[in-house]
Amino acid sequence: MRRYSVDPLEVDTVVLTHLHGDHFAGLPFLFLDGRLVSGRDDPMNVVGPMETGARLRVAMDALFAGSSPENLPFRVRIREYEATRPVTAGEFTVTAFPALHSPGSNPHAIRVEVGGKVVAFSGDSAWTPGLAEASRGADLFICESYTYDTQMPNHLDYKTLLEHRDELGCKRIILTHMGSGMLEKLDQVELETADDGMKVVLG
Ligand SMILES: [Zn+2]
Ligand SMILES: [Zn+2]
Repeated sequence: MRRYSVDPLEVDTVVLTHLHGDHFAGLPFLFLDGRLVSGRDDPMNVVGPMETGARLRVAMDALFAGSSPENLPFRVRIREYEATRPVTAGEFTVTAFPALHSPGSNPHAIRVEVGGKVVAFSGDSAWTPGLAEASRGADLFICESYTYDTQMPNHLDYKTLLEHRDELGCKRIILTHMGSGMLEKLDQVELETADDGMKVVLG
């Protein structure tokens, strides 16, 4: 965030798709920044699947012993969603759909509505109709593409995504969560791909 001049104080809501470390274990560091570096006063919303509050507490205590959402100098408001039931946090309305990923991580694809725009994110998921539901009519669908054509459990490959392209009613797709095999084949990929520091403006 520092490298790309993203001010941590501008982040007021974080939406989680599932409880794997590469998707939520940055939060204790974001909180630490708020406490020690940025001088955060404003509340932070965290929206995630069931057990988000409990797992976040465990992660915080493991990484910074004794820390918890309660002893920060700003409020952390945790909202836990259930599939297909919209929840609101600040200006955001979040609707989650079941994803096909490690069950213990409580995986979902999410659909976020804000300012008249819809952004969907697959999180981590093998192909499942929930991805089409989450991205229906979305202005932007951010979708994982872990491999190019190697099918593996719990993750989506680019070729499988292309086979289902017509089922996605979204206006734009940006691929993310790309593994080494996928990154090596970027010159053969027709869809947009994400890059660190990329800023997307929805017109
Ligand atoms: Zn995962
Ligand atoms: Zn992941």
